[in-house]
Amino acid sequence: MARVDRHRPAAGVALFPLPFQGHINPMLQLAGALHERGLAITVLHTTFNAPDPARHPGFSFVALPDAISDVVTTTKDGIAKILALNAAVEAPALAECARDALASLLNKSEEGEPRLTCLILDCTLTGMQKVAVGLGIPTLILQTCSAACFRMFRSYDMLYEKGYLPAEESNLLLPVKELPPLQVRDLFDPSILPSKEIGLKLLNLASETAANSCGAIINTFQALESHELTAVRDELLADKGVPTFAIGPLHKIASIDSVGTTRLCNQDRSCIEWLDMQDPGSVLYVSFGSVVRITEDEFTEVAWGLADSGKPFLWVVRHDLVLGVEKAELPLGFECAVEGRGKVIEWAPQQEVLAHSAIGGFWTHSGWNSTLESIYEGVPMLSSPYVGDQLATGRYVEDAWKMGVLLESLLERGKIKKAITTLMEANDGLEIRERAKSLKEKARLCVQSGGSSRRDFDRLVDHILSL
Ligand code: UDP
Repeated sequence: MARVDRHRPAAGVALFPLPFQGHINPMLQLAGALHERGLAITVLHTTFNAPDPARHPGFSFVALPDAISDVVTTTKDGIAKILALNAAVEAPALAECARDALASLLNKSEEGEPRLTCLILDCTLTGMQKVAVGLGIPTLILQTCSAACFRMFRSYDMLYEKGYLPAEESNLLLPVKELPPLQVRDLFDPSILPSKEIGLKLLNLASETAANSCGAIINTFQALESHELTAVRDELLADKGVPTFAIGPLHKIASIDSVGTTRLCNQDRSCIEWLDMQDPGSVLYVSFGSVVRITEDEFTEVAWGLADSGKPFLWVVRHDLVLGVEKAELPLGFECAVEGRGKVIEWAPQQEVLAHSAIGGFWTHSGWNSTLESIYEGVPMLSSPYVGDQLATGRYVEDAWKMGVLLESLLERGKIKKAITTLMEANDGLEIRERAKSLKEKARLCVQSGGSSRRDFDRLVDHILSL
């Protein structure tokens, strides 16, 4: 196992995350772990959603030109943002700036600074990969969703050929026998987008970037996705000899706790004091991540579903959570109805919340970071997936890992109340809680010395140093 001098690093890596919370978090957690192993860290970033250098004193930061950020902020939907970002990096003027930023890191190596070994980038950033390859810099990709979703995204040719897609009302419940336990309704169907071609293009990006890389890093662990990881490892190796490193949960791979350091929003820590006053395992934590937006009707149903459940809850209501509304307002009479047992905040210290003994369940949109954080703390989930990889993750939570309940149909207060009761009440949720406990133990073992993620991380460091 290679170990280098932390105080005088001889080698360094550059990292470029997609500028959204769910992608910045795992990339900076990976950076932290590599830094602990003696590698110099340079984070390339857009000025849009820029990380705060003050929270990472050991890293260097290089902002890419403002024009890239303009592209990201002015484009509305998420998929269009990623495609626009790639197009921007490939456009001649900006490609030159991106090239300059990387070239200056290469030059520094010649001036006695740490040797730049590689660029680690988000798997959707094909444009930046092309710039790096043009300069002879090896790239590795970071896949921020599960191995199951990575595999699903690489299977779209098959899904169309075999007629699973485009999804039709009559085949929504059909099992996808090549990708168990997924059903057609769990697949992200590009035909629902304004342009199917654009959706497919995005899906292909991740495969293309992985195939052209020197290694694929996945934020998952062996005991959680053994079968899916074997399939991904075999495919990538057989395809172009690309090795895979499963080193998750990334928020626990560095010894320094990354809680809060990668956040873009201000955390409301008053919720921890509030949790301290609640009974063990009694509180439902509710958060739909950093990007999902719900309609006003859905928001009202969520609020009254929580009120009607009679259970204590901590609910993250981001100011931009509700579509078409500047700042989400709670329904009239809601605060009175939940007085003493409900707390609403704008942004939580989520990892700390999930680790709190008062938490008994997590109602989540099934974002991959939230799911892994919940698994690590052994917190059973109520999954309400919205889009993309969240759909498949929700299915895995209920059918493969059996540590939660999937709430699939439109959000409606009666169904919400029933699902919360199933998850939180002693008898109904017993099996789910047992499964959550067992997965928690496995998650903890995999990051300890000799564990599968720890071993893969050691292999990754050796691999980087060999580039
Ligand atoms: N998060 C947080 N506080 C909140 C809500 C979310 O710190 O109030 C963090 C959460 O811990 C996770 C990330 O934001 O690391 C959300 O990522 P995820 O992949 O779950 O969802 P996304 O936001 O990408 O949809």
